[in-house]
Amino acid sequence: MDNLNEIIEKLITIAGNGNVLTDKEQLADYSHDETMGLQSFPDLVVKAENTYQVAEVLKLANRFNFPVVPRGAGTGLSGGAVPSSGGVVLSLEKMNRILEIDEENMMIVTEPGVITGVLQAEVEKKGLFYPPDPASLDSCHIGGNLAECAGGARAVKYGVTKDYVVGIEAVLPNGEIIKLGGKLLKNVVGYDLISLIVGSEGTLAVITKIVLKLIPLPKAKIDLLVPFDNYETSSATIVEIIKSKVVPAAIEFMDKESLRACAECLGRELPFPEAEAQILIELDGDDKEYLEKQAEMVGELCLEKGAKDVLVADTKANQDKLWEVRRKISESLKITGVLKVSEDIVVPINQMPTVLHDLQELSKKLNVKIVCFGHLGDGNIHVNLLKKQLTDDTWNRILPEAINGVFDITVAAGGTISGEHGIGLTKKKYLRRVLSEAEIDIMKQIKKTFDPNNILNPGKIFE
Ligand SMILES: Cc1cc2nc3c(=O)[nH]c(=O)nc-3n(C[C@H](O)[C@H](O)[C@H](O)COP(=O)(O)OP(=O)(O)OC[C@H]3O[C@@H](n4cnc5c(N)ncnc54)[C@H](O)[C@@H]3O)c2cc1C
Repeated sequence: MDNLNEIIEKLITIAGNGNVLTDKEQLADYSHDETMGLQSFPDLVVKAENTYQVAEVLKLANRFNFPVVPRGAGTGLSGGAVPSSGGVVLSLEKMNRILEIDEENMMIVTEPGVITGVLQAEVEKKGLFYPPDPASLDSCHIGGNLAECAGGARAVKYGVTKDYVVGIEAVLPNGEIIKLGGKLLKNVVGYDLISLIVGSEGTLAVITKIVLKLIPLPKAKIDLLVPFDNYETSSATIVEIIKSKVVPAAIEFMDKESLRACAECLGRELPFPEAEAQILIELDGDDKEYLEKQAEMVGELCLEKGAKDVLVADTKANQDKLWEVRRKISESLKITGVLKVSEDIVVPINQMPTVLHDLQELSKKLNVKIVCFGHLGDGNIHVNLLKKQLTDDTWNRILPEAINGVFDITVAAGGTISGEHGIGLTKKKYLRRVLSEAEIDIMKQIKKTFDPNNILNPGKIFE
């Protein structure tokens, strides 16, 4: 970065001495997210404490022409928060206050650095519910969730982050502060800029305040863990459940290998270790009796379609145990898989049996370990390619073919290459597999309109 010392001095004036990091050891924490194999050091980190500071940092960036990479908790899985061109990482971690829980309007107003699980727990204390639940909810930030339009297990019934955002305050790349929407359930004035910024992966604006709508907290839930002896039967059963017009809150898929990795990391045996695939189904609602009937019906349907058993969890302690396993899978595969490349495909739900079958065939053909888990109920599966015992040469040779093979299967099923993790750095070279030149061109023009000097998170989404 040119003029580094002068820039540091000015940043200290804006954010205060303690909020500007220059030490290499401290910068290391901001040089990666949770994407395996990606690292790039920033020149500096600035921890903003308020919107004004965010705005001043961006004005300075335009003046001195340095990149600014917004960062939440750094749990991203496509490299969005990795400062691939150096410059300044702008951390929102200190903007971590819940500003208001408005019970009359059923809304929450929050800063972006609040941990999603904390936000959920706070609204639940008042009988309210913010449903989007990325498996990383104990560490990711609500601002990062907006930037990625995070999904989660409960998307089957409740949708994803964008379905709850009714207002944002954001700072444009030139430092101008804009306020979009508010505590409004309806709003059709002009283009929908909120929807444009949500999911824009920190490339169009820095989100500094958020208004989310909430719903009443369901009073009861029942979880079912259902083992199957193959992928196809498990996914075909889910299609049948959805056809039966029951809408579970969540339907998660976990294959044998992902559960084995998880058992190893948790250091305990998990239920049904012989099953090739397991489905975790969550039903929720207000009427406990009705819920029990639904659970019985779903359990019977599963057994009818070929499930080996049904384990019912109707206490919080048992439910938490099941979900602990599901949320631990990604990390466990990272620990046990030597090296993991994780794809995040999404297809129409009824295509899932074919897709899971074709992925197994691809694994056999290329002799590469493919492990699948994820949000089967909304068609979004995480396909993990594991290096395991392969030599570096073999791995590097077959990886491009394997990734393209996964995307061939996805596209043939009418799907797309990311359901929730975003494009970031890792998937941008595959954009043309699912977007036309005209579509990419419009997106690039939008970026240019927001950010003519290409200051904000450059090099992300587009090559
Ligand atoms: C174990 C594990 C499980 C996961 N499970 C899920 C899951 O179920 N569903 C899911 O959707 N994702 C999941 N993720 C991915 C990740 O947690 C989400 O993408 C999350 O939304 C990222 O939030 P973050 O605060 O960590 O953002 P970061 O990783 O810090 O940043 C992500 C992107 O958002 C931008 N950004 C961050 N804050 C702002 C802001 N205030 N304004 C503008 N841009 C900003 C960054 O520049 C970057 O491009 C998982 C990750 C892990 C490690």
